Amino acid sequence: MFRKQLLIFTIIGLCLSQAIFAQKDRTQRTIMTPEVIEFSAFKKEFLAQYWAANPMSATYQGLADYCNKLDIPTKESALQKLSIYSDLMGRLAKYDYKKLSPSDQIDYQLMKNQVQKKMWYIQSFQPHIWKPSYYNVSSYFDKILNHPELDDKERLYVLEQLLQQLPTYYRAAVSNLKKVTIEHTELAISQLKGGLNIFEQKIPDYVAKSKEKGIQVNDQGHFDQQLEDAIASINRYIEWLQINQPSPEKARPFRIGQMYYERKFNLEISADMKAKELYQLAQQAKKETHVLMGQMAASIWPKYFKEPMPTDRKEMISQLIDTLSTKHSKREDFVEDIRKQLAELTAFVNEKQILRQDTTKPLKVRETPAYMRGVSVASISAPGPYDAEGETYYNVAPLDKYTEEEAESYLREYNHYMLQILNIHEAIPGHYTQLYYANQSPSIIKSLFGDGPMIEGWACYTERMMLEEGYGNQSPELWLLYYKWYLRIVCNTILDYSVHNLNMSKEEGIDLLMNEAFQEKTEAEGKWRRATLSQVQLCEYFAGFSEIYQLRKDYKALKGDAYTLKEFNETFLSFGSAPVSAIRKLMLGTDTK
Ligand code: ZN
Ligand code: ZN
Repeated sequence: MFRKQLLIFTIIGLCLSQAIFAQKDRTQRTIMTPEVIEFSAFKKEFLAQYWAANPMSATYQGLADYCNKLDIPTKESALQKLSIYSDLMGRLAKYDYKKLSPSDQIDYQLMKNQVQKKMWYIQSFQPHIWKPSYYNVSSYFDKILNHPELDDKERLYVLEQLLQQLPTYYRAAVSNLKKVTIEHTELAISQLKGGLNIFEQKIPDYVAKSKEKGIQVNDQGHFDQQLEDAIASINRYIEWLQINQPSPEKARPFRIGQMYYERKFNLEISADMKAKELYQLAQQAKKETHVLMGQMAASIWPKYFKEPMPTDRKEMISQLIDTLSTKHSKREDFVEDIRKQLAELTAFVNEKQILRQDTTKPLKVRETPAYMRGVSVASISAPGPYDAEGETYYNVAPLDKYTEEEAESYLREYNHYMLQILNIHEAIPGHYTQLYYANQSPSIIKSLFGDGPMIEGWACYTERMMLEEGYGNQSPELWLLYYKWYLRIVCNTILDYSVHNLNMSKEEGIDLLMNEAFQEKTEAEGKWRRATLSQVQLCEYFAGFSEIYQLRKDYKALKGDAYTLKEFNETFLSFGSAPVSAIRKLMLGTDTK
């Protein structure tokens, strides 16, 4: 959920910054040695080549240059990409890593990692041969319909060009697919069917509206024919998938197995930790958390219940959580309550000297704009590194569209306690604060390839850190609900690892989430589904959190009496959205690469 929110701000940030993309590459506080100048020129060439190999990603990131290109998934195109990637790797290898500035060292690692990932996907992991949902262009067309860089005339031209390529695109898809998984086949069919309305309604509507404004396609008859052919090619692909649905014996298992898992983990989660180590850490954390939650729950039980405590610890915890959830905002006060809490969080961060904050532009809370609704409870919209003067908003979804019942369930979930943790995570000193620091040394590479575990790990780390520092006056109620929140990230890791490496069954998975992490059935079912469709991603939060927490411990030991929390936090954030392993080397001075 939070990852999605983050994507929103990343994409928006880049859209806004696009106009000044080329001219303004501010690398503040860097002495312009020949190496720095050289490397910064290389970064531009790197991106140009990278986008040429990934035209659709470029469009998603807000660039307009590649809009009219579908990335046709042929063997030739895969080979061409590989040759671009090996060329980039070769050119990267020519730089003396140790001579680069710390900021460039991180850019270097992010670029290298990105290219390695791409090569591994093509050569080894090969989702293009087993994952039918890989071939879905609906959201791409939707992106084109809303692309801020295109005017109406250009948009019509681009649409026409793209529609023309669709039949070839799906022919290539069919020829790539070999042994598919049942899960990704079902997902593809439902997503493709859902996406058809973009072609059957949104595009014709757009064309009709443009016509009213006097802007027309070159040849309406030709355009309509192309649109019809495009829709037919999507329908043929759906039919092909339905006919070729594999039986359970013949399907590829959705579990990717240890070999792929380790490598994917290494490329996408952490270069320093093994997947199994993280899994063991999560098992340990779950055990310890249950003990702590039991103690907290027992200490406050008499405050809420006349009856004696249930002897079963989990039963007791879950009854208490239920009762605590009734303390929540009124629906009409929800946005205002968040605004008040942010002021409290800001004051607390200053008072406890947790880190330096941006005093010039306080975060603005607003109701989520209509075009962004439906994705998340709360999110940050930030202007991005090239527009440091722009406003940053904390979007909160208002509850006015909900029925009484829906609003109540939502308010119970984001009750008085959970709402505070959410605000720490999303805003202060979580994502919003991290972004402010990242923008102090703007780098397009870090914005594009920013490290997910670092970003999510930081937000999760601040939840724990704020409570440790006394936010909420060590209230056992707040701690109890914090730990419920924490168990979610812990169990995400256990679930993901167990599904892909240990053959965990659905029953075991649901049992873990409902009985060990106190989740509702619908949440647990949704998470199970996600674990069958994605791999490794669910580890992001706990992995990032654990690495940062461990780094703080080691840094404290290294600094001894000179250690302060403020200095640790500020130093950690000063490197931008870099992998924790890279920051670790820079902070502990153990760089040997
Ligand atoms: Zn987050
Ligand atoms: Zn209520």
